[in-house]
Amino acid sequence: MALIVQKYGGTSVGDLKRIGKVAKNVAKIHSAGNDVVVVLSAMAGVTDQLVRLASQITDNPHRRELDVLLATGEQTTVALLCITLESMGYPARSLLGYQAEILTDRAFGQARIVQINVNRLKTLLSERKIIAVAGFQGRDRKGNITTLGRGGSDTSAVALAAALNADVCEIYTDVDGVYTTDPNICSTARKLHEISYDEMLEMAGLGAKVLQVRAVEFAKKFNVVLHVRSAFNEEEEGTMVVEENTNMEQLVVSGVTYTKDQARITMTKVPDKPGVASKILTAIADANIVVDMIIQNTRKGGLTDITFTVPKTAYKQAMAIEQEIAQQIGAENVFGDENIAKVSIIGVGMQSHSGVAAKAFTALANENINIIMISTSEIKISCVIEEKYTELAVRTLHNAMVLEET
Ligand code: ADP
Ligand code: ASP
Ligand code: MG
Repeated sequence: MALIVQKYGGTSVGDLKRIGKVAKNVAKIHSAGNDVVVVLSAMAGVTDQLVRLASQITDNPHRRELDVLLATGEQTTVALLCITLESMGYPARSLLGYQAEILTDRAFGQARIVQINVNRLKTLLSERKIIAVAGFQGRDRKGNITTLGRGGSDTSAVALAAALNADVCEIYTDVDGVYTTDPNICSTARKLHEISYDEMLEMAGLGAKVLQVRAVEFAKKFNVVLHVRSAFNEEEEGTMVVEENTNMEQLVVSGVTYTKDQARITMTKVPDKPGVASKILTAIADANIVVDMIIQNTRKGGLTDITFTVPKTAYKQAMAIEQEIAQQIGAENVFGDENIAKVSIIGVGMQSHSGVAAKAFTALANENINIIMISTSEIKISCVIEEKYTELAVRTLHNAMVLEET
């Protein structure tokens, strides 16, 4: 008998028929004598719809209240699953994040799990109940409902698996594993039999939304056996996320990712003197806005331009802040662009190979894709481009850098 944590994503619980399929999967495993904790997302599109509703009222919804709203999507699905299971004759209990005692910090909209008290879960399991926990949510010390950031149900599942010391955490989704790039936009993407925690961390951190990055962090830290697989096809073996091992393919570039969730802000003709960049970026940090890429280019005459990226969700707020700062420091202008995307190539093998960047830039140039910003580390290269070229850039980089090696 095993203790199995399963997580089903939005598409996998998108309608009653699919919830019925999930119920059958879960019932089968339970009947075989296993303990099962199921973590669910909201139905596909529901969280987006709730975000839109709030944004019709204001650009800047109260963050505590927004979390109360967003958490409702998952409440619906856990209840529907348990109603289905009970009607099939299986004992099932739904728990919201706070009922499962998932404690978080109070960073509304991007809360981090700090502790899970598993007593209630263990009691229910000992009574042979199937437990369905609402993903993506917890509560802070004062009892406020918090959410864990988009895609956060993955993290709920892995954290529960770690806290319960589960034998495996299975992430059921609408693709049948982790691929070298998003299979929905690149037909030559290749499914990986296994991937190391570190490479998965990079991929997730740079946009591969098949797993939320914090879920991978938890899995690595607590050695959770993480298995990504298809909710629609049980035959598919999926992808195991594991410690790095010697059998793994050692590719120079192992994956390509993209994200459209950033916006760019540029301040022009900034006085080029100590303390100015600090002033520009401190104001953003003070507003709890996370800056990703930063570049500064020099002009003549003691002036410089500074460009950086922020989450699209914080774009308007960041623009307003910088317009004020520009006045204070005597910069010429502030302008921004929300229609950008960041494409990245990832591979631990890059650190020992030269010419990777040159090859990637050439591939993009051959497709006439202009690179707006670049950032590199030992194991990744990211380029900001115009959003409309995202899919083309992903396919181009994948075919030039990943496919060619294999
Ligand atoms: P869920 O609702 O099940 O959590 P998500 O939409 O969050 O599903 O994540 C699954 C999606 O991730 C896939 O449909 C796919 O488009 C996308 N994706 C992006 N990069 C990858 C990748 N490297 N491998 C697999 N899927 C990827
Ligand atoms: N429903 C939430 C979202 O859409 C959480 C999740 O699906 O993991 O982001
Ligand atoms: Mg997801």
